[in-house]
Amino acid sequence: MKPPVSQITESFTESVIREMTRLTNLYGSVNLSQGFPDFPAPEEVKEAAVAAIRADINQYAVTWGAPNLRRAIAEKAQRYNHFPVDPDKNITVTCGATEAMIATLMALINPGDEVVIFEPFYENYGPDTYLSHATPRFVKLHPPDWHFDEKELRAAFNSHTRAVIINTPNNPTGKVFTREELQFVAQLCQEWDAFAITDEIYEHILFDDTEHISIANLDGMAKRTVTINGISKTYSLTGWRTGWAIAPEQQNNAIRKVHDFLTVGAAAPLQEAAAVALRLPESYYQNLAKTYLVKRNRLVGILDNAGFHCYVPKGAYYIMTEIAELLDKHGQPNDDAFARWMVKEIGVAAVPGSSFYMNPADGRTQVRFCFCKKEETLAAAAEKLKKLE
Ligand code: GLN
Repeated sequence: MKPPVSQITESFTESVIREMTRLTNLYGSVNLSQGFPDFPAPEEVKEAAVAAIRADINQYAVTWGAPNLRRAIAEKAQRYNHFPVDPDKNITVTCGATEAMIATLMALINPGDEVVIFEPFYENYGPDTYLSHATPRFVKLHPPDWHFDEKELRAAFNSHTRAVIINTPNNPTGKVFTREELQFVAQLCQEWDAFAITDEIYEHILFDDTEHISIANLDGMAKRTVTINGISKTYSLTGWRTGWAIAPEQQNNAIRKVHDFLTVGAAAPLQEAAAVALRLPESYYQNLAKTYLVKRNRLVGILDNAGFHCYVPKGAYYIMTEIAELLDKHGQPNDDAFARWMVKEIGVAAVPGSSFYMNPADGRTQVRFCFCKKEETLAAAAEKLKKLE
């Protein structure tokens, strides 16, 4: 008999992050699981989308991105990330950073290629490597500061290494890779003729004087880096699914082909509005980081009180926590059981730590919370979490 579905799809499970949101809706609990803001997006960007629809920008945009948006992306890369980008040669606009990542892997990977992934990692990178037929090689980030061991990273590179995936600021740990760390990664890429694929979607959410470094901006790296980004997190527009990849011309041409046959293109009117978002003044970004700093500190306080041990993030909008003591206290065997119990009985949703590891046992005593929420949502979570005290 023929198998009912492909072996690849059998090799990975449904997204636990998205499942937790569905459970939240089922039980009516407070959702601190899937990372999306519950407050409004910037008014002028919403107005720009409405205006674009009224102006009848309602048919396909150029497959690899509306010229106006590609120009805005190139300007922003120059201004904030400090590397030159040609809007006609180096950019592919995609349906979110998620599509940019899978399209990049499909455009670069050949059978037998390996991809180095720092672990814990954002859930999608696992299935992404399977779907693109790459073999993942995991390298641990070690708490409490989530540093990598240079020897362990070096040992993961070899002649089959096609790429390393970097995510800075990092989901789920909140780590922000330092210049020295990225220089070490860059050196290995050069030594082994590998690409850096860097997901920088949280680049504007930074705390405690940390600096965002784009690896494309390091010496010799522009020609071997694909920089992935999108409007979801910076402008609180996760539902617009507008992202992009910036790559050297030859690789970008391959990404454009994959993207074209996967999705044809991202939503045309939203691309026009995204261009307006990218041109918001400096004050917008300062305000964003300031707002999130208050939310970070607020949620760290709430979680501390409830008995979670927080790894205080330096960037992005998640808090990874240690729950070994809480598991004992509440008689739960692991992170997954704890998160399912919490969403139902306590009324707060978080993501089980095992979602971010290849081997679920590695995340057994961790859960991740997000703080991209209104004060009233955080206050409601605080109230419910009192039941844990
Ligand atoms: N990046 C967000 C998270 O980690 C949302 C991911 C998603 O569901 N697309 O929660």
